[in-house]
Formats: sequence, C-alpha cells, structure tokens
Amino acid sequence: MRADYGLSIWGEENFVIEGDTVNVNHGRCPSLLEITSAVREQGYRGPLLLRFPHLIRKQIDTLFDTFAAAREEFGYRGEFRAVFPLKVNQYPHFVEGLIEASEGRNYGLEAGSKAELIIAMAKTPMGAPITVNGFKDREMIALAFIAAKSGHRIVVTIEGINELETIIEVNREFNADSPDPVAPGIGMRIRLHSAGIGTWAKSGGYSSKFGLTSTELLEAYEMLRRENLLDNLAMLHFHIGSQMGQIGPLKKALREAGNLYGELKRRGADGLRAINIGGGLAVEYSQHHRGTHRNYSIKEFANDVVFAMQEIARQKGVEEPDIFTESGRFVAASHSVLVAPVLELFGQEYHERSLRLKEENPPLVQELYALYESMQRGNAREYLHDALDHLESLLTLFDLGYIDLEDRSNTEILVHLIVKKAIRLLDSDEAEELRKLQNRIQEKYLVNFSIFQSLPDFWGLRQHFPVMPIHHLSHRPTRPASLWDITCDSDGEIAFDAQEPLLLHDIDVEREEYFLAFFLTGAYQEVLGMRHNLFTHPTEAVVRFDEEGEYRIEELIEAQNLMDVLDDLDYDTGRIDKALKSRIEDSPLVGEAEKQELLGKLYLYLSENSYLKTIQSTPVKEQRQ
Ligand SMILES: *Cc1c(COP(=O)(O)O)cnc(C)c1O
Repeated sequence: MRADYGLSIWGEENFVIEGDTVNVNHGRCPSLLEITSAVREQGYRGPLLLRFPHLIRKQIDTLFDTFAAAREEFGYRGEFRAVFPLKVNQYPHFVEGLIEASEGRNYGLEAGSKAELIIAMAKTPMGAPITVNGFKDREMIALAFIAAKSGHRIVVTIEGINELETIIEVNREFNADSPDPVAPGIGMRIRLHSAGIGTWAKSGGYSSKFGLTSTELLEAYEMLRRENLLDNLAMLHFHIGSQMGQIGPLKKALREAGNLYGELKRRGADGLRAINIGGGLAVEYSQHHRGTHRNYSIKEFANDVVFAMQEIARQKGVEEPDIFTESGRFVAASHSVLVAPVLELFGQEYHERSLRLKEENPPLVQELYALYESMQRGNAREYLHDALDHLESLLTLFDLGYIDLEDRSNTEILVHLIVKKAIRLLDSDEAEELRKLQNRIQEKYLVNFSIFQSLPDFWGLRQHFPVMPIHHLSHRPTRPASLWDITCDSDGEIAFDAQEPLLLHDIDVEREEYFLAFFLTGAYQEVLGMRHNLFTHPTEAVVRFDEEGEYRIEELIEAQNLMDVLDDLDYDTGRIDKALKSRIEDSPLVGEAEKQELLGKLYLYLSENSYLKTIQSTPVKEQRQ
C-alpha cells in the first residue's frame, strides 16, 4: 500500500505521484526531485523555495471564471473585480509572476501600508483597480492622490471618521485651484454586526479593530455631501477574517453589507457602485479527511455572493453593485513549495551495523538476535511480543549489574530492529497494535530549514502545512516522524500524533539524500518569517514552463550570506571584518602560512549562508535543549 500523504485532499491536482516521485502536474510533469537536483547541481544547498507561476495563473483564472459563470447563471448586471492584497506576499518574484499571470484580467493590487502602496502604484497595470486599506496618515492619503492623478483607478477605504477628515484636507491641498479636480475614490469599511469566525475573527464583528458603525456611516455621508465629494463615495468594504472555514458567516455579512449599500444608495450616494467583500476564501491544508478546513467550494462561494447581492438590490430597488474581492490566501498559497533536505534521523544509531556482538553474549541477547534473524510474516506478532519481554528482562539485568553497557546497547538496537521489521511484516488489519508500536519508534527527522523563517504560522498558530517526501514514494513509509528544524529552539519542532501520523521512510542519510516538501507555503509565510538564530529567507527559484512543456529555472536568488545578515541588523560589517582579520593576524598560536590559510577559509565561509551545507551529527544535537 502506498501513502499519498493526503494529496487528493489538499493537492487540487497540482501535483501527482508517478512511480517513486511527486511530480508537477503541468507540462511534461517533471518531478520535484528533478527540479531540486537541477538547482543543487549549481552548488546551492539548504532549503529551497520553488515558485510556480502557472499555479498563480490557475488560481486567478479559477477566481475570475467562477464569478463569470455565477454572474451569467443569475443574469447579474454588476461587474466582478479583484485585487490581490499585498500583505499576503510582497516578494518581487511572486508579485511579478502575479502581474504576468493576470494579464488581460484587469486584476489589481491592494495596499495596507505606504510601502505596499508604492509597490501597487508601480506594478498595477493602468486601468486595473488599486484599493487601500488599513490605518492611514496624511502622507499615505497624499500618495493615493498622487496615484489618482497619475491615472490609477484607486479607492481609499476609510477605517474611521478621522481618516475622512484627512482626505478632505488633502483634497483641498491637491485640488484647491484645479478646474478638473482629481481625487481617489472613497470606500467605507463597515463594522459588521455579524462577527467573523476562525483564528482571524477579529477582522469582523463589533469588537473588530476596523470599520465604521452605522452612526459613523451617516456622519461620513453628511461630511462628503457638505464637501461636494459624495460622487467619490465608490465602495463599501468588509473583511470577515482570513481562512473562513464555513460559508454561513459570509452570507450573513453579505446581507448586512448589501442592506447598508441599499440604504446609502437610496439616500443619494449615486457614485456608490461596489461592494468589496474582502478576502477570507479558504485553502484546504489538511492531509487527513477528519480535519478538513473548508466546507464550501469556490463555486458555492461565488454563487452565494452573486445571489445575495442580487436579492438585496432587488428588495431595495437599487442597481446591482459591482463585486470586488481581495482574496489573497486563495491566490497565493499553492504557488510555492519549500523543499528541505533531511540531515539526520536521530534514531539512526539503532542500525544493524552498530551492533557490538561478542563471542559470548548473554543468552537473552543471543535469543533477540535469533528472533530478529528468523522473524517472518507468520511469526511476526509472536516474536515481537517475545522481544518486548526480553527487553524488560535485559534492562532489569543491567540495573542489577549482570550485563554490561555493550550488552545493553545490543539489546536496544535489536529490539528496535525487531519492532521495525514487525511493522514491515504485519498486515494492516493489526492496525491498532501497529499504531502503538509506531509511537514507540517515533523518529525525529532533523530537517535543514527553520520553522520560524519558513512556516511562521505553524509556530504562531499551529497552522498545518501539507508535508511529504518527494521521492521513495513507491515504498511504504514505516517511520512515524516528528520534524525538527536546525534552530536551537525547542519550539522548532513539528510533532504529529498517533491518530494522524506523518509516516516517512527509513533512510540512511549518510548514504543517500532524502528531501521533504512543504506545500501551500505561498501565502503569508514569507514576510512573516522571522530570522530566529539568523536563518534567512531560503534560496528561491522560479520554475516556468514553455510551450513544449519543458521547464526552466529562473531568477535564482541565494539565501543571504552571513555578512549581509549582520549588515541588515545594522552591524558595522567593516568593523566585524577588521576584528576577525586582526584576531587571526595577531594570534600567537599559528604561523604566517597557516594564518593566510585560515583567512582564506574564513572569507569563503563569510560568503555563504547560515543553512547547513553538510550532514552534521552530534554537534547539532548537543546544542538543542
Ligand atoms: C488580509 C486581508 C485580505 C486577504 O485575506 P485572505 O484571507 O488572504 O484572502 C483581504 N482584505 C483585507 C482588508 C485584508 O486585511
């Protein structure tokens, strides 16, 4: 039986298992192993972030096509528009891939800070929308005016009345003497009565950090009317929180927003044309059927939105609004895969070649060896139970001083080997017993990456990311694993419980390489990543497919080298360099020739990054606490 690591649950047919490997389900379907090897052949080591722009395109196409189908089905007259919220991934090779992938879609960008707004102003194709959310000061609003005057179709959504006051002031500054005043559209974020759900629920609801109450909406409306800016009121906005698992709360929010829209239209907000439903479209991260994360399809989502808007527009007798979305996670998550090498299996010392059998062994040890040698499918259960009994006896003998350290070591190795062999031989109908056994031999896999840097939402929120080996897939994996990163922090561990274990292969990593891949890492993880222990953003590469289905590796960027990391922390790297150099030169312990040699080595290492280059054994283990 071969494990598929839940690929049919979370994979969206983006990857397929073919023979021994997991392959990109696109073009000529290269394996992740092949791509990884091609990058490593160029000398790159450590974790590798692979970006697949075709998967960005797929998500954008799905989003637009599904809404187009829903509008057609219901005969909806409002438009559908979408922007990508930059906070989900601002990395240039993602954003450039996104712009390229959305060509012809009129897809824009959403900004939540000044730096993001600059990216949006530079990268959004002219004519595509820009939306601005979050808390804004005068400078940020002025930037939005500059964007509008450059010809961008930009909407600034206010979070509170004071922001509207600032917009009015900035408008005076920019348009006082202008015969043709140009200003951004104005959006109003509404504070919903219906609360959001899930981990990120604080984005919606009365206790939300954001949005105008109904009293403030009326006040804002009056202010805009007085200032002759009512025509600029273009959009109502809400965002009920990220990764919404159920559709119910969205439906409530839609009704509430729709009614507010209808009320403002009837009052005379003629420029008001759009409802922006924010993000929140969920991604299925689960590798097991039990814990799925999403109870609706994108089609259901689109149909619900279009249907709700149509109903309310009809009830209120107003035109159907344009529908805006700012889905980020849905668009970005699947585009990247983090491939990381396993450096070590902590239980590797339990290897047959580590046995130190003597000429004369204690009878029970001799017997363990015989059990191990002659164990077969038919007797596996019985021999296993015998071995576990012997283990107890031998440990007692050791405590009483009857056997020595070598005997004890042989005992532990042999029992470990017997348990492993039993798991291999036993049928799956003995699942309960197997599970107990597997816990007994749970193996720690030391992986060359940092959880803090590459999966911060696991560290902060216990967000699960699908993980699987990228090769050996035609062999049954037998080792229930927990994953350890190379930071010296005991939080740098991903544990799995016996109900939903991660089974990996029993590989001797001193003899062959073993790579794990983490999927759906494209949303939020990169910028949230922390430099704990000064591990930096991993080496990254863009994998593009040509017409023939052949892939090319482009835009390879190596993880930052050691000195650049220190420079980013504002160390004076010139002085560090000098100090290192003079300490070697002044050292009384080595001669001239050796000093030159040491300096040469030092500079080589300084040009490299923090991730481990080779297999490390004991030192890494000892660092951990
Ligand atoms: C974070 C955010 C989004 C994106 O949410 P996703 O769940 O990633 O789709 C959209 N709009 C606003 C205002 C946000 O703050």
